Amino acid sequence: DLTHGRILYLEDVHVSFDGFKAIRGLSIDIAPGELRCIIGPNGAGKTTMMDIITGKTRPDSGTVYFGGTINLLRHSEAEIAQLGIGRKFQRPTVFEALTVYENLELALQGDRRLRASVWGRLTGAQKDRLAEVLVLIRLADQLQRPAGLLSHGQKQWLEIGMLLVQDPRLLLLDEPVAGMTDQETERTAELILTLKGRHSIIVVEHDMGFVDTIAEKVTVLAEGSVLAEGTLAQVQADERVIETYLGR
Ligand code: ADP
Repeated sequence: DLTHGRILYLEDVHVSFDGFKAIRGLSIDIAPGELRCIIGPNGAGKTTMMDIITGKTRPDSGTVYFGGTINLLRHSEAEIAQLGIGRKFQRPTVFEALTVYENLELALQGDRRLRASVWGRLTGAQKDRLAEVLVLIRLADQLQRPAGLLSHGQKQWLEIGMLLVQDPRLLLLDEPVAGMTDQETERTAELILTLKGRHSIIVVEHDMGFVDTIAEKVTVLAEGSVLAEGTLAQVQADERVIETYLGR
C-alpha cells in the first residue's frame, strides 16, 4: 500500500497560521510498535505536528495516513480518538475528586463518561484490562485513593493509564517526565519501554537523558520540518542539529 505498512505516515505536510508557515514540508513515518522521540527547539512545530495527527489542526496540504489505509484528513478529532490514537498532554487532567479506579472506569466508557447509570457495568474483558493497566502504571495498591491526593508523577501515570484502558494503537506523549523526580522519571522510562511493541509511541521530550534511555530512533524537528533522524548519538553529532540548538 501507499504507506508501506506504516502505522503513521505524514508526507509533505504544510500548515500556516495567519500566513506564518509553522509546518513546511513535514514528512515522517512510524512503524508498528515503534517508539520514536521527537526533539527540537521551541517553535520547531512539535506541538503542531501532534495537533495534526489528532485532527485538532488541519493541514493546508499534504498526506496523513494511519494504520496503512486510514486517511486521517477525512476524520474529525473525535473520530480519530475512536480510531485508536491516544494523546496525553503535558499537564495531567485527571478527575481529582474521583478515585484512581473511577478515573480509569470513566476512561473506559469513553463518550458515555457522564452517564453515571452505566457505572459498574464493565464487561469481564474491560475489568481484566483495567486490572492489567493498574499494575502497569504502578497504582494497583491505590485504587480507592482520590486522584487529587496522588503525587505529580502518579497523576501522569494515571493519565497514561486512562489512555491505555482503551488500548490505543498509537500513543502520543507530550513531555511525559516534565516536573517528575528522578525516580519517577526512571519508572516512566520503564513503563514506556514496556508499552513499546504493543503500541506505537511518539514521545515529544526536552529531557535528553530520558530520550537517551528510551529511544532507538530520534527525529529532530526545526522550522516545521525534519532536520535529522537517527539514534540520539547520530543526531547530536549532526552539524545542522548543533547549529540549530546553539542558534545561528
Ligand atoms: P513546538 O511545540 O516545537 O515548540 P509549536 O508547534 O508550538 O512548536 O509552534 C510552531 C510555530 O507555530 C511557532 O512559531 C508558534 O508560534 C506557531 N504557532 C503554533 N500554533 C499557532 C497558532 N494557533 N497561531 C499562530 N501561530 C501558532
